[in-house]
Amino acid sequence: MQTPLPDYLAHVIEACDIDNSGHLADYIPELANANPNRLALAMSTVDGEIYSVGDDDIEFTIQSMSKPFTYAYVLQQLGIDAVLDKVGVEPSGEAFNEISLGKDRRPKNPMINSGAITTHSLIPMKDDLESAEIVRQFMSALAGRELRFDEAVYASEVKTAYRNLSIGYMLRTVGILETDPVDIVNGYIRQCSILVTVKDLVRMGSVLANGGVDPKTGKRLLNRSVVRQVLSVMMSCGMYDAAGDWLSTVGIPAKSGVAGGILGVLPGQVSIAAFSPKLDEHGNSVRGIDILERLSRDMGLHLMEGTPSAQTIVQSHYRTGKDASLSVYVLRGVLKFTEAEMLLRILQAEPMDQSTIVIDLTQISIIHDVGKRMFLEGIDRLIDDGHTLLLVDPEQRLDHARTHKDRTLHVYQDIEDLIAQLKDAENKKV
Ligand code: GLU
Repeated sequence: MQTPLPDYLAHVIEACDIDNSGHLADYIPELANANPNRLALAMSTVDGEIYSVGDDDIEFTIQSMSKPFTYAYVLQQLGIDAVLDKVGVEPSGEAFNEISLGKDRRPKNPMINSGAITTHSLIPMKDDLESAEIVRQFMSALAGRELRFDEAVYASEVKTAYRNLSIGYMLRTVGILETDPVDIVNGYIRQCSILVTVKDLVRMGSVLANGGVDPKTGKRLLNRSVVRQVLSVMMSCGMYDAAGDWLSTVGIPAKSGVAGGILGVLPGQVSIAAFSPKLDEHGNSVRGIDILERLSRDMGLHLMEGTPSAQTIVQSHYRTGKDASLSVYVLRGVLKFTEAEMLLRILQAEPMDQSTIVIDLTQISIIHDVGKRMFLEGIDRLIDDGHTLLLVDPEQRLDHARTHKDRTLHVYQDIEDLIAQLKDAENKKV
C-alpha cells in the first residue's frame, strides 16, 4: 500500500493550476523576471515526514517569510520582553510596506516591513558576522541544509529600496533604530534574498509545528514560548492586510512573501508551503491562497476547529484483592487539562476508606504539564483521604516527580507484577 497523500497533493495543485490571475511583483525588478507558471506544494507532518509535488526543487527567494524566523531568532536570543519594547504585536490592517508607526512609536508588528527592519536591527553581533549571515545560518539549521543568498535579487532590491529606506529613516528618527538605517535596511533586504524550496520551508515550519524541536534530529532549536509568540503573530498579522479574511477562511498561522511563497504552520499537526509567483492585490500568491484554502477545508485544518479531546481517560476500572480492597484504574490517551479534569471527577467517587488505589499510566501517550500538575494534586487529596496510592509508569515519566505536598510517589514497572505482589502480601498477612 502507498499512502494516498502525494496523490491528493498532486490533485490539489492540478485543480489550482488553471487560475492564471494575478501579477508578478515588479517593484523588485529581478522578481518581474520570474517564471509565472511555477507551482509547488509541500507538507511536513509533525514527526518530520515530508511530502511534496510540482516544482518542489525550484528555489525562490524567501522574502517576507523570513520575518517570522528572524523574529524567532531575536526572541530566543533576547527574550520576549526586550523585543516587545521595540516592536508591538497588533495587526496593522495596512499594506506590508506602509510608512507608519503605532501610537507608541513602535512598529505595530514584526510581520510588516517597519517591524521586520526593527527586528533585524536587534540581531546580536556574533563572531564579526554580518547580521544577514547570522540569519542565514539560523535558517540553514532549521532547514537542515546550507541555504544561500540570491545575489541578483539582493542587488536588484538594494538599488530600488527607496521605500524601505524611508521606513528605516523614520525608525531612526524616533530612536527605534539605534544605528545607521542604511546598513540595517540592506541587512534586512539580504535576509529576504535567501533562497528556499517548498521542501526547505516545510522543514523549517516543522520545527515551529513541533513546539521548537526539530522532528528530524530531536534537537530543541527554539523555546516553546518563542514558538507560541511567533505563531500568534503569524496568525494575527501574517497575511498582510488580508489577515482577518485569512483567519476566517483558512485559519492556519501563515506568512507569505512577494516571490510567491506561503508558509502555513498548524501547531502540533503540519506545516504546509506553496509556491506560485503571481500575486493578488494584497501581495499574496493567488494560487498559493487557493491551495491553502483547499487543504484547510479538505483536511479540517482550521485552527478554530481545535483538536478535540478523545474524551476518554479511564480505559477500565476494576476492584480486586481480598474484599475487593484494591481499586485499579487503567488509563489511556493523552493527559491534558480536559482529560485530567475528567479523571479527577471519576476519582472523586472513591469512598473515603483506607483502600489501596493503583493507577496504571502505561498507555498514556503524552503527559502535558497541566495534566501532570492536576494529577499530582489529585494524588495528594486521595492520600489525605487515607488511601495508599501506587502508580505504574514504566517510562518513568513521573519518576522524579513529587506531589504538591512533597510526597514521594511509589512508581512501579508492570501492572500484573504489582497486583500479584499486593495479593501475595495480603495472603501472607492472613
Ligand atoms: N524584500 C521585500 C520588501 O521588503 C519583502 C516583501 C514581502 O515579501 O512582503 O519589500
